[in-house]
Amino acid sequence: MSTVGVDLPTPARALAVGAHPDDVEFGCGATLAKWAAAGCVVDHLVCTDGSKGSWDPDQGLAELVARRQVEQREAAKALGATGEVVFLGWPDGELESGVRQRWQVAYWIRRLRPAVVLGHDPWKRYRLHPDHRHAGFLTVDGVVAARDPHFFPEQQIAHHRPDALLLFEADEPDHVEQVDEDAVARKHAALEAHLSQMRSTMDVDLDSPESEAQLAAFRARVRERLVAHGQLAGVPVGEAFKVVTDL
Ligand SMILES: [Zn+2]
Repeated sequence: MSTVGVDLPTPARALAVGAHPDDVEFGCGATLAKWAAAGCVVDHLVCTDGSKGSWDPDQGLAELVARRQVEQREAAKALGATGEVVFLGWPDGELESGVRQRWQVAYWIRRLRPAVVLGHDPWKRYRLHPDHRHAGFLTVDGVVAARDPHFFPEQQIAHHRPDALLLFEADEPDHVEQVDEDAVARKHAALEAHLSQMRSTMDVDLDSPESEAQLAAFRARVRERLVAHGQLAGVPVGEAFKVVTDL
């Protein structure tokens, strides 16, 4: 059995990169809540505009995009995050991990100077959604570009090398951040701030008489995953990652 590490030192600043509004909350919300409670400045970087996040064919897309930005800011607040919430605004479903997008991610890493960067594991096998894959590559490639002064010198901003990269939805998790019940409660609250996603992502139909039971089932699924992740390291509740410290 390979050894699974537990708990990085609380970083002074952490930047979480997600493909869509809500991905960060699913992937590492409890970890961010734990760190925020301990004084870490938590920033969000959302790559796409979330404009595919509705099952309603008559949904106005500009309105959906604006709504999801508001929800993402509410979710960040629910985690206790006090940093920036940045939207790159690429069209949902069409994110690419090209040099233009990498330029942007590197810029924000240099500007915010996080000690830890978190993002989707781009090497997660059989992952279907291309945005998650591309956002993962952008996170990894953005770290590489940000740390070296000869990448994108026209940014005229000091290069920055984070101490650690944590990849969530990890194909080969080897690190767990243990979390307490306060962090779990904040993760639930942050997920549920994404009200527009209740039906499509969380299987909760707020107009249904079953909505309370559906919400309870969603919360149970989130907790089940936290328990399963914790078990990887022999702790009660946690979030699992692939950790990279050789940056
Ligand atoms: Zn997503």
